[in-house]
Amino acid sequence: MKITAQTRPLGLIGHPVSHSKSPLMMNAAIKKQQAPFVYLAYDIVPQQLKQAVQGLRTLQFQGFNVTIPHKVAIMDYMDEIDETAEAIGAVNTVVKRNGKWIGTNTDGLGYLRSLQEEMNLNLTEQRVVIIGAGGAARAIGYVLAKAGVAHITIINRTIYKAEHLATHLSQWSNGIEVRSLADAKVQIKKATCVINTTSVGMHPHVEEMPIDADWLHEDCIVSDLIYTPSRTKLLHAAKDKGARIHNGMGMLLYQAAIAYEHWTGNKAPVATMRAALLET
Ligand code: NAP
Repeated sequence: MKITAQTRPLGLIGHPVSHSKSPLMMNAAIKKQQAPFVYLAYDIVPQQLKQAVQGLRTLQFQGFNVTIPHKVAIMDYMDEIDETAEAIGAVNTVVKRNGKWIGTNTDGLGYLRSLQEEMNLNLTEQRVVIIGAGGAARAIGYVLAKAGVAHITIINRTIYKAEHLATHLSQWSNGIEVRSLADAKVQIKKATCVINTTSVGMHPHVEEMPIDADWLHEDCIVSDLIYTPSRTKLLHAAKDKGARIHNGMGMLLYQAAIAYEHWTGNKAPVATMRAALLET
């Protein structure tokens, strides 16, 4: 990677960021394409957010990623918020266009691209169950509803949060239902795609799973946003039932690939980025 006076900065802001795999993926892509950028991670505490954003502007960043805990607060400092970020209610990518900073969100589309490329499925024919009703569920629910998935059931431990999300998503689909976690057996038995968006099963709680394994079946894709471990207890149970499985690594990869495409205008070298991700 050749750094010259023309090299423009890109980066990630969050707190903490030391665990992030984004610099590895992004710099591998930059190196592969000899793109005139460099990508660094910055640990910014919430009290420093405004100052940090002003600094990035002054230093002529071409764009940056935003992670926890700034995905909502950053919206106050954008010149524009695009439709996707508005619908999701959070920004994970900032892009400079005509001198303006535009906040967008690549999480949902990254997930969708991963699901389509890795599972090769026709979305409109799916009956989807989303487990969880937090930020990730909102991003995924939005892109699935926009993509024309006819049936989406949201199940969540705290039912009012699922109801709130369903009301929001009903702007884009009239096929949204809500069930409690305990009452989701019938929906899961009928589902063609079950997506876990909760943190249940994530390291170090690897023995936990969000639903009863007996509800899973072979005519179904089971997808888990978690990538540590790469195969959760839910995915092990799904595999045992003969279901096709999909983990969260692809979402991590493609949300980065789409951000890279926004900044550089190039098609992202996904294989290179995937290799960088898997190397770690
Ligand atoms: P969030 O907004 O905090 O939402 C968490 C969700 O998990 C809520 O629905 C919550 O239910 C549920 N939950 C948490 N603990 C639970 C438990 N013990 N039993 C049942 N439900 C439980 O978090 P998020 O941002 O949506 O992230 C959720 C997961 O997605 C995390 O594991 C995160 O690492 C993963 N993720 C992965 C990627 C990727 O690139 N692969 C990207 C984003 C997120 P309540 O409403 O009842 O609290």
